[in-house]
Amino acid sequence: MEGLQERLKGVVWDLAHGTGVTGERSRALADATADDLPGLCQVASDMRDRGRGRTVTFSPKVFIPLTRMCRDFCGYCTFRQSPDEADRLYMTPDEVLAVARAGQRLGCTEALFTLGERPEQRYPEAKAWLGQHGFGSTLEYLAHCCQLVLEETTLLPHPNPGTMSRHEMARLKDVSASMGIMLESTSESLCAPGGAHEFAPSKRPRARLKTLETAGELGVPFTTGVLVGIGDRREERIDALLAIADLHQRYGHIQEVIIQNFRAKPDTAMAEHEDAETEEMLWSVAMARLILGPDVNLQVPPNLSQRDYPIYLQAGINDWGGVSPLTIDYVNPEAPWPQIGDLQRRTEEMGFVLKPRFPIYPEFFLDKSDAVSSPVAQRLRGLADEDGYVKGGTQRYASAHE
Ligand code: SF4
Repeated sequence: MEGLQERLKGVVWDLAHGTGVTGERSRALADATADDLPGLCQVASDMRDRGRGRTVTFSPKVFIPLTRMCRDFCGYCTFRQSPDEADRLYMTPDEVLAVARAGQRLGCTEALFTLGERPEQRYPEAKAWLGQHGFGSTLEYLAHCCQLVLEETTLLPHPNPGTMSRHEMARLKDVSASMGIMLESTSESLCAPGGAHEFAPSKRPRARLKTLETAGELGVPFTTGVLVGIGDRREERIDALLAIADLHQRYGHIQEVIIQNFRAKPDTAMAEHEDAETEEMLWSVAMARLILGPDVNLQVPPNLSQRDYPIYLQAGINDWGGVSPLTIDYVNPEAPWPQIGDLQRRTEEMGFVLKPRFPIYPEFFLDKSDAVSSPVAQRLRGLADEDGYVKGGTQRYASAHE
């Protein structure tokens, strides 16, 4: 087999000829070793510089866990709660608005709605709560809460509710800036007995890809990503990234791709599973940049790699994702967000400029008349600077967070 340098030359040839890195070329990098990583990361980092320059972004947000009930059971999840474990079945509209208003006072611009998948399909308690409040489904109630946040605060909703039908997504599009679903993996083996997704029908790759495709058809600026370390092989991760690249090529709607590391949590089926290692993450980030190209926004969550997160700038990322001065990461409650001042210092030490962004990236709303509904467009016009970032820059947060 050719050495890594030869295989990288093939990648560079693909890129120079504007073809994107082919599946064959990317698969040939699956066996890159630790010694190969610096070369691989350098090519990916150069590619990021060409497409995104030296600006790195984050989204100042509040995290709103509208409900923690879920019809699924993933092997690593500590977010889901059954009705008898939950303090409350759903957050009320007043609770949602209280969090959003507190975030607004701290300069946040994103209301991230993360919630369990269609709990009313498993729990009569969920169905009854929704019925008592005049809603037929969790997604209907979610749309109502997004609308409230949009009307009553300056925050922009970004819902992340799992799989969505065309009708459900179209309704949410009117009241949100962007949406997301983690693809996580396209490996069918994770759905087999003993796999992380054995008891999670919504994590079937076909169901996730269908939601991503629907988003493309509706022109929704969409966030997705892969979860590294839950049991897939490198070749399968490449397949997942190629599937995302293919969707983006067809519809142009993938606004960012998250490369997230698995962290084992006590009291879960995967408690004894190894955490994703830094080397595996570096390889995955670099491969994502090579496969998705110079222009895509690529993110690693800094709170999941507190000790060494700046290292991923050397592998081609250009975004830190949502960072909250107010609410915890309910999915990873053991991992606090970095202070924004600290994030800025560590980003600048690596030679980059840190800027706050909205849940929707600038290129998805600047000079585009139909990307978002008119209330969202109006809100963005009031809050954005001429480049589409949050007016006031990181200075806006200096006093609120330090
Ligand atoms: S990871 Fe999401 S889909 Fe899976 S059990 Fe947890 S809340 Fe449900």
